[in-house]
Amino acid sequence: MPKTAKRQIRKKGSLRIDIISCVPQLLESPLDYSIVKRAKEKGIVSIFIHDLRDYASGKHKKTDDYSYGGSAGMVMMVEPVYKIIKKLTRQRKYDEIVYMSPDGELFDQPMANKMSLMKNIIILCGHYKGIDQRIRDHLITKEISIGNYVLSGGEIAAAAVTDTIVRLLPGALSDETSALSDSFQNSLLSPPVYTRPADFKGWKVPDILLCGDHEKISRWLDSQAIERTKLLRPELLEK
Ligand code: SAH
Repeated sequence: MPKTAKRQIRKKGSLRIDIISCVPQLLESPLDYSIVKRAKEKGIVSIFIHDLRDYASGKHKKTDDYSYGGSAGMVMMVEPVYKIIKKLTRQRKYDEIVYMSPDGELFDQPMANKMSLMKNIIILCGHYKGIDQRIRDHLITKEISIGNYVLSGGEIAAAAVTDTIVRLLPGALSDETSALSDSFQNSLLSPPVYTRPADFKGWKVPDILLCGDHEKISRWLDSQAIERTKLLRPELLEK
């Protein structure tokens, strides 16, 4: 089973992601460093973070209110979210309007691959008890969960999804082939990786990696990936 998976790769044009949040500060640092930062600088992706409060009305710029039926916790109001989504969708066509939600479809590498081929994506982050159901019923086209646990807000989840997609865009990683050998491409985990020194206090890098025979090394890496997947995540091999 070759480790270099075939996945569809974006051919041209940059990706635009609009993230809507009532706590935009939570998104600043995760999307402002490293690979995502460089991808933005190269024009491979543009990421716009929208503060929901800018679309709230009244003196207090409220974006949440008490829940009907009296259950505990505040609910994000329809109007500010409606206004920003309508503003964006009037300007361009979006492939998906995503709501981050623990009851959404579980995010995984195939979903990230698919989203990396899109042109424009909106990601709405919930907070408090979540968003008024009517937004989900009428405006949202896709709901994504990053795992079976509950975060305080959708921002960390949106950052995880954005980061995963951006590193798949051609040119985002310095070595194009690098993303292909990552875990979950081709339903396999990544083989182990090593760097210098070759010997640290007697902890040695496997000899084969130093032998210089690229074909032999590549076969060894493939077998390591399969062994590791069998051991740690056998269900991936059943797919
Ligand atoms: N009452 C909701 C949870 C609200 S948590 C419920 O029980 O389903 C507040 C917000 O955090 C959610 O609106 C969502 O945007 C985000 N969030 C929490 N956990 C998440 C997860 N696992 N994946 C994606 N988003 C999540």
